[in-house]
Amino acid sequence: MKTKQLPLWAMGLFVTASVLIACEKDLDKTIPGPPTATARPDSGSDGLFDAVARMKGIAKKGTFQGRSITYMDYNGLPIYQGDIMLSKEDLAPLETNQNNPNARVKGAGFAGDARRWKNGVIPYVIDPESNLDKVTIETAMERWEAKTPIRFVPRTNEFDCIRFVKKTHNSSSVGRVGGQQDINLLNDKNLGVVVHEIGHAIGLEHEHTRQDRDNFVTFYKENLIDSKLAEQFDIESTTFDHGTFDFNSVMLYSSTDFGKINPQTGEKLAVLRKKDGSTFEGHTNRQHPSFGDEETVRAMYSYIYLVRKNVLHALTTEGLETNLGSGWQGAAQTLAEDGRYIWGIQGGRLWKTDRLNGHYQQVGNGSGNWVGAVGVTGKDPQGNLYAQQGDHLWKIDKYGVHRALGSGGWKGTKALYYLNGALYVIWQNPNLNTPPILYKVNTTTGAYSRLGTATYSSFQAMTALS
Ligand SMILES: [Zn+2]
Repeated sequence: MKTKQLPLWAMGLFVTASVLIACEKDLDKTIPGPPTATARPDSGSDGLFDAVARMKGIAKKGTFQGRSITYMDYNGLPIYQGDIMLSKEDLAPLETNQNNPNARVKGAGFAGDARRWKNGVIPYVIDPESNLDKVTIETAMERWEAKTPIRFVPRTNEFDCIRFVKKTHNSSSVGRVGGQQDINLLNDKNLGVVVHEIGHAIGLEHEHTRQDRDNFVTFYKENLIDSKLAEQFDIESTTFDHGTFDFNSVMLYSSTDFGKINPQTGEKLAVLRKKDGSTFEGHTNRQHPSFGDEETVRAMYSYIYLVRKNVLHALTTEGLETNLGSGWQGAAQTLAEDGRYIWGIQGGRLWKTDRLNGHYQQVGNGSGNWVGAVGVTGKDPQGNLYAQQGDHLWKIDKYGVHRALGSGGWKGTKALYYLNGALYVIWQNPNLNTPPILYKVNTTTGAYSRLGTATYSSFQAMTALS
C-alpha cells in the first residue's frame, strides 16, 4: 500500500531522496547505524526541501483552522508551509470549524483545544513495513518527553494515534486530528527532522511564520527556488503576543531552506535572514526542542493552576511550571477552570485568564462587586460558574453575567465547591455564635438542605472531585 501506489509526483523524488539521506550534515552523529546503501555524494545542496520544491503542485487558496492561507495541492495531497499536512477539518470554513479561537499560543504553539492529545498522551505506531530508523524516532520522542508533559506510548487499541511511515517527503498534521494520523518521514535518520515533525503532531506550528516574524527576520522572496513556494512563508493573521522570536526553535526552517543555488558560487541563497543580515540554522541541524518549544508545549498541556505570591502558575502533572503573568496578589482562594480559561477573583473583580498565554480580561458588568468573595467554582454542563459574595450565591454565565441563585442569606460562607448539579457550601451564621454547617444547594432551583449532622467549627479545607 505505502509505496506501490505512489502518485506521479512522488516517483520523480526518489533520486533526490537518496541524495538527501547521504547528506553528511543532516545525519545525527549520535545515532549509530551504517550509511544507507543508496548513499552517494551530495552535489552541495543541503537538499532537505528539494523534494518538496520539485513536486508538481498547484497553489490553492483555502483555510487552515479558519484563517485564510495558500497551500500546495500535490495530486490531492494538501501541504501547507512545506510539511504541514492539512486535513478536511483544517480546510473547513471558519463557521463550521470547531477549533476556534484559531490563534497560536506562546511561540509557535497551536491554540485549538480540540486538537490537543488527552492528558498529553500520544499513542504511536512505527509502521513495521517501512524500515524506518527506530532509534532516531524513539530518541526524538524522548527529547519531547524530557521537559514537557507529553508522553508517547505504544498503541494498543486507542482510536487516536500517530503512525510513523516512510515516504518521499517529510510531513505531519498539526495537533491531534482524530483517528490514525501519519507522520511521513523521508529523512528518518535526521533527528532534527523527526523532532520537528513530532512537534507538529503535538500541536506546534512554524516559528518563522508567526505573525510578528518580520520584526525579527527579513524574507527574500526572490531567492526562493520557485516563486510559488512563497506560501511556505505566509505569516499567520493572529494578534497574539508570542514572546521573543526563538532562533533555537526546532520549529524553525534554516535561512537557506527553499533557497535557489547561486550559479556563480554554487551556494544556496538565503530566503530568511536575521535583521543584522546574518543567517541561521534550522531544524535539520538541531538535536532537541528549544527551551521556548518546551515552554510552549508546557503551556498547552498544563492542568494545574495556582497563584503563588503575585504570579499565576500553570503546572503540568509532572510539576513543571509555566509563569502565566503577575497581578494576582490577594486572589480569592478558589480558581475555576473553563476550558481554555481560568476564572478568578482578585482585587474585588472577576477575571478570566487565557491559560495558554496568560492574557486576562475583566468579565461581568460593574466593577468591584466581588469584594470579599470566597472564590469561583464550577463549571456546570451549561458552562456556568458559581461564587458567593455578599448575601448571595451567584450563578455566572460564560459571559460573566451573574444572577443570584435562590434566596439570600449566604453571608458568612467559608467555602464552596461545585459538583454534579449542586454547590457544597460551608456556611456560618455571621450574626450568631453558632458553628459552620455544610449545605447542599441545587444549582438549578437554589433549593438547599443541610448535609449530614456534623458541625464544622474545626473546618480547614474542602474540595469536590468530579
Ligand atoms: Zn514543519
